[in-house]
Amino acid sequence: MSKTILNLVIPCYNEEEALPLTKKELDKKMKELIDKKLISENSKVVFVNDGSKDKTWEIIEKIHSENKMYVGINLSRNRGHQNALLAGLMYAKDNSDISISMDADLQDDINVMDDMIKKYNEGADIVYGVRSSRKKDTIFKKITAESFYKLMKCMGVEVVFNHADCRLMSKRALIGLSEYKEVNLFLRGIVPQIGYKTDIAYYERNERVAGKSKYPLKKMLSFATDGITSFSVKPLKMITSIGFLILLISFIAMIYSIIIKIMGNSVSNFNFIICSIWMIGGIQILCLGVIGEYIGKIYNETKARPRYIIDKILD
Ligand code: UDP
Ligand code: MG
Repeated sequence: MSKTILNLVIPCYNEEEALPLTKKELDKKMKELIDKKLISENSKVVFVNDGSKDKTWEIIEKIHSENKMYVGINLSRNRGHQNALLAGLMYAKDNSDISISMDADLQDDINVMDDMIKKYNEGADIVYGVRSSRKKDTIFKKITAESFYKLMKCMGVEVVFNHADCRLMSKRALIGLSEYKEVNLFLRGIVPQIGYKTDIAYYERNERVAGKSKYPLKKMLSFATDGITSFSVKPLKMITSIGFLILLISFIAMIYSIIIKIMGNSVSNFNFIICSIWMIGGIQILCLGVIGEYIGKIYNETKARPRYIIDKILD
C-alpha cells in the first residue's frame, strides 16, 4: 500500500448540475489510484463550497454523509475561485502529503493525476497540468485565453503557458505557498515563485460535464488585470516612458515653432492646439488610472483582511 496521502481539492460555485457527475467519476478514479498503489487509502477529495446560491452545499453534505472519503469545506460567502482554492489547499497542507487541484466541471482530464503522482514520486514538488491542445474550447475562449498568457509574458509575469489551476503540490510546496500573505491572489503567478523541482504533465482539456462557465468575460478581464498588477511593475515603467516620449516630442515641436517664427511665418493652428490638449488630458487620465490600480492594491494589502472565512468543515 502506498503511504502518500492525496487531497484532491475542488472549488465549487453553483455546481449543482456538475457535482453528482463529477463525484461518480471521482469514485472510480480514486479507487483506481488506490488499487494501483499510487496513493494511500486515507486520501480524500476536498470540495470547497464558495458561497454557492444553489444546492451545491446540500449535495456536498449528502456526499460526505454517504462516503467519508469526501470532505466538505463551506466558506462563509462567495470569495472567488482563487480564494476558495486557497482555502482547500491550506486544509490539504495540514492533512496530506500531496494535493492536486482541479475544477468541479471535470474540464481537466482526471486521468492526468497518474502522471502527476508519478512525477512527484520521481522527485518533483510541483507538477503543472498543461493543456496539450484547445480543440474543444470555443474560438472565443481559445483566443482570449491564449492572448492572456501572451500578455502576461510580455508584461514580465512568470506564468506557465496554457497551465490553469490544475496542479500537484507537495506538502512543503504548500507550506511555501502559505508564506505568501497577499490578498490579491493570483496563484498561477505565486506558485512558480515558490521554487523547488517542478515538472509538467500534459492533458487534453474537455468540455464542461454540466452547467455554465462561472468565468464570464468581465471576471476574466479582472483576473488578468489582477495578475498583471500583482506581479509586474511594467505598467508603471511604461508611464515613465510615455511621459518621456511626450516631453521629447513637445520639446522638438517647440524648437520647430521657434525656428518658423524667427523665419517670419505664422504658426497658430487652433485645431491642432485643441487636439493636443485633449490628447495630453487623455494620457494623464490613463496614467492616473494605472497608478490608481496599484494604489488600490496597496490599500487592500495594508488592510490584510482574511482571504476567506470557513463556516464549517465536514471531515
Ligand atoms: N469557482 C469558484 N468560485 C467562483 C467562480 C468559480 O469556486 O466565484 C469554481 C468553479 O466552480 C469551478 C472553477 O472555479 O470549479 C473554475 O470555474 P469555471 O469552470 O466556471 O471556469 P472556466 O473553466 O470556464 O474558465
Ligand atoms: Mg471550467
